[in-house]
Amino acid sequence: MSREKAEKAVNVQVLLRCRPFNEDELRNNAPQVVTCNEYQREVAVSQSIAGKQIDRVFTFDKVFGPSAQQKDLYDQAVIPIVNEVLDGFNCTIFAYGQTGTGKTYTMEGECKRAKSGPNGQLPPDAGVIPRAVKQIFDTLESQNAEYSVKVTFLELYNEEITDLLGHEEISKVILEEKQKKTLPLMEDGKGGVLVRGLEEEIVTSANEIFTLLERGSSKRRTAETLLNKQSSRSHSLFSITIHIKEATPEGEELIKCGKLNLVDLAGSENISRSGAREGRAREAGEINKSLLTLGRVITALVEHLGHIPYRDSKLTRLLRDSLGGRTKTCIIATVSPSVHCLDETLSTLDYAHRAK
Ligand code: ADP
Ligand code: MG
Repeated sequence: MSREKAEKAVNVQVLLRCRPFNEDELRNNAPQVVTCNEYQREVAVSQSIAGKQIDRVFTFDKVFGPSAQQKDLYDQAVIPIVNEVLDGFNCTIFAYGQTGTGKTYTMEGECKRAKSGPNGQLPPDAGVIPRAVKQIFDTLESQNAEYSVKVTFLELYNEEITDLLGHEEISKVILEEKQKKTLPLMEDGKGGVLVRGLEEEIVTSANEIFTLLERGSSKRRTAETLLNKQSSRSHSLFSITIHIKEATPEGEELIKCGKLNLVDLAGSENISRSGAREGRAREAGEINKSLLTLGRVITALVEHLGHIPYRDSKLTRLLRDSLGGRTKTCIIATVSPSVHCLDETLSTLDYAHRAK
């Protein structure tokens, strides 16, 4: 590859994960319309409705069927990305899909049950976040270098940023007060942005991550109930920043800094269905500005367009230093196998496929 081409190459990887049938779908004998062929990296959707036959096949960089375990997805797709981060690059992993298809399961896993075992082993249900943190600490602890690991965890709802790590107590009054002055975004002068007032937690072992995730999720749930938020409309962003102090052969000191962003996006039905509905368009438009803009930014990166509309939403501003250029991006699109989700499944597959 020529140097110019290498610089232009965009590292966007798109994976597809289809979850198993849930209890409801099993009880109702829901017909299966999605078939995964992991070996061929293909997903087939077929269904005949009133004599009309739908048959479509999509190819992705990787495909994970209903029997794929958390570890399978992590080992095959995420390990190389975390290695890039440990080498001092910024990378982002998104979970994109209809509500109920496994975005949070994929990113976090079942956190309450996720306490690591006596020898630091993760439970099988642990998702990408705890596994990434473990890989980071396992690698850092095996090297003879000074390092620090910091995390932030925030929620973006209706283009407003809320800290999911802060220690302060939550009450309705405090939350409403906070909503009026959500954390502002500021340029940091180095191509990135800062969220003023966002708590940064220094983490010293992989085990601490479960406490942080649990605190974040419980904060999210409380705020949802107290403020009548609809969780399917919010994005969460978990960022891990690593600094490693290294000595060059000449004896000079060098600081390597890498960042991993793990994003659990708002339900994709927010742009495909309600987003198009008359009357609610304004509300939906506001709520989903970040989801819409993210799609445009990724298209612009993949198609090498001159203008990348990072500035058009909070999410893309937050991720600006970790999308495009010398970074790796991975989109994990999640779907249900059931006929009841057919429309949303097709729109998720179309969206994810366009990002390739
Ligand atoms: P989302 O975040 O996309 O709304 P969730 O992650 O909350 O969806 O998943 C919905 C339900 O399905 C949860 O109970 C979750 O545990 C279960 N689930 C999702 N994906 C899988 C999977 N691959 N294997 C087993 N259970 C899953
Ligand atoms: Mg979720």
